[in-house]
This record gives sequence, structure tokens and C-alpha cells, in this order.
Amino acid sequence: MTANINLPRILRIGAGVSRQLPEVLDELGLKQPLLVTDAFIVSLGWLDDLEAQLSKQGFVHNRFTGVVPDPTTDAITAGLAVLHLGEHDCVVALGGGSSIDTAKAIAAMAHRDQPMRNYKVPNTIDDGLPVIAIPTTAGTGSEVTRASVITDTETQEKMLCMGLGLMPIAALVDFELTLSMPWRLTADTGLDTLCHALEAYVSKKANTFTDTIALAAMTAINTHIRTACQLPDNRPAREAMMLAATQGGIAFSNASVTLIHGMSRPIGALFHVPHGLSNAMLLPEITAWSISGAPARYADCARAMAMADANDSDADANQKLIAGLRLLCRDLNVPTPSEFGIDAQLWQQSLPLMAQQALDSGSPNNNPRIPNAA
Ligand code: NAD
Repeated sequence: MTANINLPRILRIGAGVSRQLPEVLDELGLKQPLLVTDAFIVSLGWLDDLEAQLSKQGFVHNRFTGVVPDPTTDAITAGLAVLHLGEHDCVVALGGGSSIDTAKAIAAMAHRDQPMRNYKVPNTIDDGLPVIAIPTTAGTGSEVTRASVITDTETQEKMLCMGLGLMPIAALVDFELTLSMPWRLTADTGLDTLCHALEAYVSKKANTFTDTIALAAMTAINTHIRTACQLPDNRPAREAMMLAATQGGIAFSNASVTLIHGMSRPIGALFHVPHGLSNAMLLPEITAWSISGAPARYADCARAMAMADANDSDADANQKLIAGLRLLCRDLNVPTPSEFGIDAQLWQQSLPLMAQQALDSGSPNNNPRIPNAA
């Protein structure tokens, strides 16, 4: 087995580590951060707290609070305008995947003059300003990935951008920031994490390193996701889900996602379904369709999540996996596209475009069973 593993230079995990930002900036020799977040995080008072800490310790800083869900190229342009007002030497993301991906894109585009679409896969982004990521959702794992997903405002394509320039230099993974997540957000982001771990494990690019953490993440998610949703103050469940999210991010960033994420991105871009939810809508059916491509690998997933027993045959474990995923999605109230309110005619009309965008993203090529547009 050979594997090429990329990680942030600093990865701090645990209660309260987000308060170590000034210390981490010092350690990295960074002095002038631009803080990037969204309006809701601002309303929680967390940005003010972070800024007060930075000011007390003599850092020059500014803020960009125009992050939008499924971040757009327009939002990146607005962020770049704020960045260029100062002499910023790094970007700090505080928030969910949207804030982290926006911060990564601003940092990457700081000294580039072509439009972002010129850098989507198969092209790469190999350098940029350093990013320090402080996630507030237990989901995307973006704090440890070399990816940023940005929607092109002109074409509405949710573009996958990849490269070492998008890997945060540091991640401060503090589960206490997730205690405020409401039921639906906890479920959606937790299901996103589950897809990362499962897709990384069955990916054609999986390796022994990513296998270990993907399985650990799946075990933790199935053990804790329902508790985290129902009992938001349950610290052990929150801590386990946050760790799983970071593990899921490391796993897929070093092994790739597959068909679920490939098909989920166009649904998010065209119909504004929250990212974790659009993954979850696809999870049981795509698993059922793909399972013949890697039955032993999917059986491992079923056993890791205690959906099957150690002595079940792979074929039985595969059936139990599909049933277990359907039950999980039902328990977490995952709607169908029509239950979500998507117009059936518009959905039908959009299928060719969505299929093409999914295939163009490259992720489906790593699926155990290779799809075509049909
Ligand atoms: P998000 O960042 O869009 O946030 C969703 C909402 O939750 C926002 O209103 C936000 O303010 C709120 N929120 C965030 N933290 C909260 C908290 N602790 N308490 C209460 N509310 C909170 O959601 P997300 O699911 O974290 O990110 C989704 C984005 O991440 C999508 O654009 C997706 O494509 C991207 N993504 C990126 C990667 C990557 O590796 N770069 C991986 C997966 C997903």
C-alpha cells in the first residue's frame, strides 16, 4: 500500500481550543488575520469574543461577515475587496463549511486574477494565504480538507476546487462551538460526515490510513448522531460527532468522495437543499445501486456501524446496511426531493444538467460502480 496523506500543520482538538487562536497565530508567525464568518455566527457574539482576544494581544485584524450558504463567486469577490483593504497575511474562518470554504477561496484568490471557474477540477490550486479554520458545525470536515466548494454565480454550478493551497495551515476543532446547533442542522451535518466516511471507505482511492479513520468515524456517528440531535447539550455525543467530522474530512480528502457527493452538489446548487440533506437524500439509494461494486467493503461499513453482526455473510451485511441507512434517514426525517418542496417538473427538466455536472466533477469515477449520465 502507498498513500499520500495531507493534513493541516497544526490540528488542535478538544473543549476550548478555539480560544487558543492568538497562540496559534503566534506559533505560525502570522500577525494580521482577516476573520471570515456569516451573519448568524456574528449574532451569537462569537466573532466579537475572538476579536476582543486578538485586540488584547496586539493583532491587527478585520472582518468579512458576508458568507452565504453554498458560497458563491460573488461572495468571494466581496470578501476579496475587504481583504485588499488591509495588509492581511492570513484568513481565519469561524463557522460551518460555508465560512471555511469562503475563507479558503478568499485566501487562494488573493493573488490570482483569473475567475474562480478556471481553477475548478481537474485544475488545482497549489498556493494561497494561510487559512486557520475553526469549525462550528460537526459535518463538512473542511477544516482538514484540500477542497473548497464554490457556486459560480453566473452558471449556478457548484464547483469543486482542489489543491494543497486549499488545505488550512491550522484547524482548531472545539466541540463546544457545536452545542448551539439545532436538531435539523445537527442531523444534516452529521449525515454529511457519515457520507464522507462511507464514501472514503468504498472509494477506489481508499488506502489503509483512511480506512482506519473512516471506520472509526462511522462507528462514532451511528452511536451518537441520534443523541446529538435529541439532547443538544449532551457533551459526549457532541464531542464524538465533532471528532468524527474531522476524521471524515481527513478520510475523504485523502481518499476522495464518490457518487453521493458528485450527485449531491448539483442538487444543492440548483435547489438550495442544505448540503448534508442532499447527500442524505441520496445515501440509501446510491448505496443500494453501488453495493455490487464492492460488497465486502460495504459489509465492513455495516459491521462498523453495528447494523450487521460480525458473523453475518457479506450478502446479509449488505442488505442490513441498506435497511439500516433507510432507518437512520427515516429517524432523522430526511425528506425526498418532492417532500422538500422541489417542483417535480423542474426536477425532471434539470436531470440532464445535474447528471452532466455530477460526472464532470470527477467524484463518480471513484465510485465502486461507475455510473453514466442515464
Ligand atoms: P453552513 O456553513 O452553510 O451553515 C449552515 C447554517 O448553520 C448557517 O446559517 C450557519 O450560520 C449556521 N451555524 C453554523 N454553526 C452553527 C452553530 N454552532 N450553531 C447554530 N447555527 C450554526 O453549513 P455546513 O453544512 O457546515 O457547510 C455546508 C457547506 O460546506 C456547503 O457549501 C458544502 O458544499 C461545503 N462542504 C465543503 C467541504 C470541503 O471539504 N471543503 C466538504 C463538505 C461540504
